[in-house]
Amino acid sequence: MTRPYVFGSNFKMNQTPIESAEFYRELAASIEIPPDARVFIIPPFTSLASVAEVAADRSGNFWLAAQNIHWAAEGAFTGEISARMLQALGVDLVLIGHAERRQHFHEGDVDLNRKVMAALGAGLRVLLAIGETAEERGYGVSDETVLRQLKIGLHGVTRNQLDRLTLGYEPVWSIGAGGTPATPSDVEPIAAVMRGALGKRFGNSGQDVPILYGGSVSPDNAGSFTSLTDIDGLFVGRAAWAVDGFIATFDAGLVGYRAKSTGS
Ligand code: PEP
Repeated sequence: MTRPYVFGSNFKMNQTPIESAEFYRELAASIEIPPDARVFIIPPFTSLASVAEVAADRSGNFWLAAQNIHWAAEGAFTGEISARMLQALGVDLVLIGHAERRQHFHEGDVDLNRKVMAALGAGLRVLLAIGETAEERGYGVSDETVLRQLKIGLHGVTRNQLDRLTLGYEPVWSIGAGGTPATPSDVEPIAAVMRGALGKRFGNSGQDVPILYGGSVSPDNAGSFTSLTDIDGLFVGRAAWAVDGFIATFDAGLVGYRAKSTGS
């Protein structure tokens, strides 16, 4: 199977419901999503209903996503949101394990695995984000870190759930305004380690799971990441928070992705 080009943005704690709906409207009016591409946006929880309403007629190539989920179906978990609640809003995908959740909210691999299992079990798509910190990189344990995050995060996942799984490699040191942008030569070996681990765990089916790169991606460097063998798309923050930047970065990444299939 050829893996699709997958591209999306996490809006973090930005935008009101009206602003997110307007973003979607503008984006849908201007972006062209070819059949081999998938696009997602991850607005805050409070915007999901308004976006779901304006995006009600979206194609299967456009995924509405949430930034987090709780592992329990329901119960005494004040402030939390379950898979059933997200499904009732028409959400397609859940981001699990973003670096900010790991850092500020102390989410560890075992609890993240519970979230992955809850989301996949409920029929949602999952984007599991993994990546090493600057400190882990400094100690030379980047490979070990992403392998641990991947192995624990995907514990119990079955082959027949893989068509709903996407992985995001986001080196923590390259994310956000204070980050040091990674280069394709930083990303290539880690993506290969991730691809190898998927193969070990799931056999040939592991080849079908898209791996996205995220961290200081812009229209200028997007294609250099998507032209890497094991990177199938991009997970973008700041550069895609305005519709024109979203589309420019999407288009630049698509050029790199296409270059692989033509061998140019
Ligand atoms: C992120 O925070 O996940 C991210 C990729 O942000 P940025 O693109 O702004 O570095």
